[in-house]
Amino acid sequence: MKKLLALAALAVTGVFPAFAQHSEQNHAERFEQLGPMLRSPNVYRTASGAPGHMYWQQQANYVINVELDDANQSIKGSEKVTYINNSPDQLTYLWVQLEENQRGADSDSPKTAESSIGSRMTLRNLEGLIWANEDFGYKVLEVKDAKGNPLPVTVNKTMMRIDLPAPLKAGESFTFGVEWSFNITDRVGYVGGRPGYEYFEGDGNYLYTMAEWFPRMAVYSDFEGWQNKQFMGSGEFALVFGNYEVNITVPADHMVGATGELQNASQVLSATELNRWNTARKTYDAPVVIRTQDEAIELEKGKSTAKKTWKFKAENVRDFAWTSSRKFIWDAMAVKQGGKDVMAMSYYAKEANPLYGQYSTRVVAHTLKSYSSHTFDYPYPTAISVEAANGMEYPMICFNYGRPDPDGTYSEAVKNGMIGVIIHEVGHNFFPMIVNSDERQWTWMDEGLNTFMQFMAEQEWDRNFPSRRGPAHKIVPYMRSAKNTLEPIMTNSENIIQFGPNAYAKPATALNILRETVMGRELFDYAFKEYARRWKFKHPTPEDLFRTMEDASAVDLDWFWRGWFYGTEPVDIAIENVALYKMDNRTPAEKKEAMKAEADREEDYVSKEFNRNDVKETVVEANPETHDFYTSYNPFTVTPEDEENYKQFMASLSPKEKELMGRDLNFYEITFKNVGGLVMPIILEFQYADGTSEIDRIPVEIWRKNESQVTKVFVKEKEVTQIILDPKRETADIDESSNYWPRQYQPSRFELFKGSGAARGASTGSNPMKKAKSNQ
Ligand SMILES: [Zn+2]
Repeated sequence: MKKLLALAALAVTGVFPAFAQHSEQNHAERFEQLGPMLRSPNVYRTASGAPGHMYWQQQANYVINVELDDANQSIKGSEKVTYINNSPDQLTYLWVQLEENQRGADSDSPKTAESSIGSRMTLRNLEGLIWANEDFGYKVLEVKDAKGNPLPVTVNKTMMRIDLPAPLKAGESFTFGVEWSFNITDRVGYVGGRPGYEYFEGDGNYLYTMAEWFPRMAVYSDFEGWQNKQFMGSGEFALVFGNYEVNITVPADHMVGATGELQNASQVLSATELNRWNTARKTYDAPVVIRTQDEAIELEKGKSTAKKTWKFKAENVRDFAWTSSRKFIWDAMAVKQGGKDVMAMSYYAKEANPLYGQYSTRVVAHTLKSYSSHTFDYPYPTAISVEAANGMEYPMICFNYGRPDPDGTYSEAVKNGMIGVIIHEVGHNFFPMIVNSDERQWTWMDEGLNTFMQFMAEQEWDRNFPSRRGPAHKIVPYMRSAKNTLEPIMTNSENIIQFGPNAYAKPATALNILRETVMGRELFDYAFKEYARRWKFKHPTPEDLFRTMEDASAVDLDWFWRGWFYGTEPVDIAIENVALYKMDNRTPAEKKEAMKAEADREEDYVSKEFNRNDVKETVVEANPETHDFYTSYNPFTVTPEDEENYKQFMASLSPKEKELMGRDLNFYEITFKNVGGLVMPIILEFQYADGTSEIDRIPVEIWRKNESQVTKVFVKEKEVTQIILDPKRETADIDESSNYWPRQYQPSRFELFKGSGAARGASTGSNPMKKAKSNQ
């Protein structure tokens, strides 16, 4: 092949315009290993991304009694916390989280929130400026040792330090008690936030979703020490695994759902409900309604002054949440998971029907099956979806939205929004409830992974499900947004400007691209499962994910983590140039003929044509003798030497080379430009003159020596009529107009309107109609 190409000159033919391009050689280390950007591996976390041989984590066990005051919307509780120091370190104090104080008077959240006055202000905007949170945050907070003696504590906003009477040595445990109370906030009103109540004016009842409702141990780890970064609202939770016994006292006509398993069903359920519950535990095909809508509506009418205590137990959970209301309808069905039965359940008020009754529990069951197939069998005994007009996750229980209109009708958008949020929040059981990452530091570690899993589960629910996040092209508007509004995925939760796109959509999209385009499903699925398996019921860091994905697949992904997780550059690859070459396999006669045609063409220029047509032209006869002399040598005739050379060349060829000579191959030399900066594989579709097409996939490493421009030859038997870069929109390329050769222009539409004074304003982008809308 080498000899052949060396001997045969290549001829350019003019199907595509060819012009030389020079680009600066560029090496911005996009392919270098992350090295010092990652934490050093050690005995706790290995360089392969797995827990090390001396891995440890702390444990906190809780026994809690809590009472809900429905008349005053407040709770009071007392807990006994046993903290087990599994670390090799001696601790002189403990840090406890008091998230409820983030809603209180001493909260940094409103103080550090920027504010400004607009021409249109809602009541809620105003409340945000003038509201004083004096009624909220912990009202009573008493900390005592196991014998009931007060312990010295220091409360620093949302964190409380307990100074230990004696240092807590490695392997020892310490037990302390806390008593507390606080007023529950209206989470539908200005305060908002995750936990709180919703008041229903129609029947005068409350629906409580209780989360971050008790003083909880902060995480002490090998990679962070105490995670005692203040709770500001965005960076969620860093929590310790442990076992819980929680006794919840509520009005006797309330229904309670919670993390864990109900221990005293026969005491809190009616005989009929208990019967239905026992039926549900053996029903695998459809939810069984345990408290019906009619029964719930009947209960809404009264307000019991009697009390009931619901007893729950939960093992190996990082948190505990619960919900209570007399408005609740309750249904449940059993789902097989790893040889065990899990109860998929839903709690919802009549306002959420008929949607929740129809879909909620079925979506819970689907989510458990889908997520388990990509990670590990769901290990907990229950999974609950509560309709609470929001979306928030806790172990075994989550709060979701999706209500029909008051007449019971609903749009496809409301239905799909409900299905999406239930999948998402139930899915959080896997990340971060079981694969217990530090949400206070990294939102993407649970939201990004979970949104990626949500995309797969949605598509498994319905192949045509209108998933909002996951497909590559859906991240393009974000990747195209102004540079000063972008930050890397590796940004602390509190500092993110565009929270949804940065912490949910971009990491989810990156993982989807990794699966579909970079690694392929087989390698990706194995490695992702390995990460989930290694870190279930443990505390992973970003390094553990990055390392495991490489360790289990033999795919070097440092360039990918650099580009997608540590950088803000978008993908924008352009087809810069295409040149078509043909191999010169002509006989001497054919060659000479072509040379003559070229020479004739050389002398065919505009003046000749004008001269021929010019009537005043003076024709000077050439001297016939001189003329003959110069034309006696015809450079376009084939000489015996030409024939001999050709014969010798042909004789030197092997049969394989001769066969190649005989083929009419097309050599497409394509130059690609990396306009965006983020390197990605090159995916090319060749459309042929005969109507067929073919896709070539070039791994990303083609960019490793020149990250700004690369050239590659594609050899095709067929004649190409169209080349398309990234034809299936799998790389999130932000400028698809440069992905076609020949260029195909993608029309954008502009609006026509009658010229008037307003037209000037509109042409400078200050359309008054638009302005009014953006202030809403
Ligand atoms: Zn989430």
